[in-house]
Amino acid sequence: MVVKDNYSLREHNTFGIEAKASRFFEYTSVEELQAFVRERAASGDESPLLHIGGGSNLLFLKDFEGTILHSSMQEIYVTANEGDYVYVRVSAGIEWDAWVQYAVDSRWYGLENLSLIPGEVGASAVQNIGAYGAEAKDFIIFVDAVDLQTGEIRHFTAEECRYGYRDSIFKHELRGRYAVTHVHFRLSHEFRPRLDYSGLRRALEQRGYDETNLTAEQLRQTIIEVRREKLPEPTELGNAGSFFTNPIVERSTFERLLKEYPDMPHYEIDSTSVKIPAGWLIERCGWKGKALGRAGVYERQALVLVNLGGATGEDIKALCERIQADVKEKFDVAIVPEVNFIA
Ligand SMILES: Cc1cc2nc3c(=O)[nH]c(=O)nc-3n(C[C@H](O)[C@H](O)[C@H](O)COP(=O)(O)OP(=O)(O)OC[C@H]3O[C@@H](n4cnc5c(N)ncnc54)[C@H](O)[C@@H]3O)c2cc1C
Repeated sequence: MVVKDNYSLREHNTFGIEAKASRFFEYTSVEELQAFVRERAASGDESPLLHIGGGSNLLFLKDFEGTILHSSMQEIYVTANEGDYVYVRVSAGIEWDAWVQYAVDSRWYGLENLSLIPGEVGASAVQNIGAYGAEAKDFIIFVDAVDLQTGEIRHFTAEECRYGYRDSIFKHELRGRYAVTHVHFRLSHEFRPRLDYSGLRRALEQRGYDETNLTAEQLRQTIIEVRREKLPEPTELGNAGSFFTNPIVERSTFERLLKEYPDMPHYEIDSTSVKIPAGWLIERCGWKGKALGRAGVYERQALVLVNLGGATGEDIKALCERIQADVKEKFDVAIVPEVNFIA
């Protein structure tokens, strides 16, 4: 285990914000985490706890006056092989994209569209990460977690996790209550590529790949290349990917907007609701490539807020609030951050 006091979190958040944690505790086993939780409860310590992964969806607004938890557990374990499927238990501390590469190399299929998403496996089950028409929830069957109040182990079925768009029970009722220690995935032995997402087929064609004999590695590499063209590399320009979730609006709102903006991109959700890209709304407000002090809007994708150098969490938040107000005023649509603000 690693324990550090008055510890800089700069290397633990992809925005590159300088903030300190009173204590940083990195555990190497479930037992170590349980012992920490039980000793803490026995000592009556009530200071805040925050479990982090790779810090790629966090915005520290100030120093964290409590303990930051992090897992360094690194196991991938096959629990069963049944028919077309393999069942794999993966430790929360493994880097997400290393797991995707491992699965593709092992000929376990399904995760290719989620290639290169930053962060760790534990957070994938909290955030229900998604990209190119796939979501983590499509493959998660169980989540193992430790109760941070009692140290008890609990197993959540995917249904109990209540997954939704970038959402789960761990972001609501159970926010901060559990440390995810392992995620159980069900992957297929047969490669069935999902290519419906707009632009994916075109990107494959441009690379000369034939859809009828496409390999999982080709799909993964294409997605990696497309993502690299679109998104800034956090080590070069601090960011947390999409800063806002795409708003899902009622059909009446959508129809009102479409009359005024016939070119507005949108995705049908169901008969009553439609999803509108937040990036398009922000761009239409004139924010793309603009800055407010040391916080900016990425020049190639308006959904991404960036640290232009030395920004504080409050600088990024101020930009976020200005953008929200402008989108509200122009379109009468509320956009909400996907990023977790840590106050
Ligand atoms: C360049 C870039 C591109 C991105 N693209 C995408 C994308 O395409 N799709 C997408 O969905 N996201 C994307 N993201 C956002 C981010 O990658 C995901 O939200 C990811 O799941 C965060 O993982 P993390 O390990 O960094 O979690 P953190 O940012 O450290 O934490 C995120 C949340 O999960 C909680 N958490 C983390 N680990 C645990 C654990 N073991 N137990 C309990 N709680 C935990 C934290 O408390 C926090 O609430 C992108 C981010 C960047 C920087």
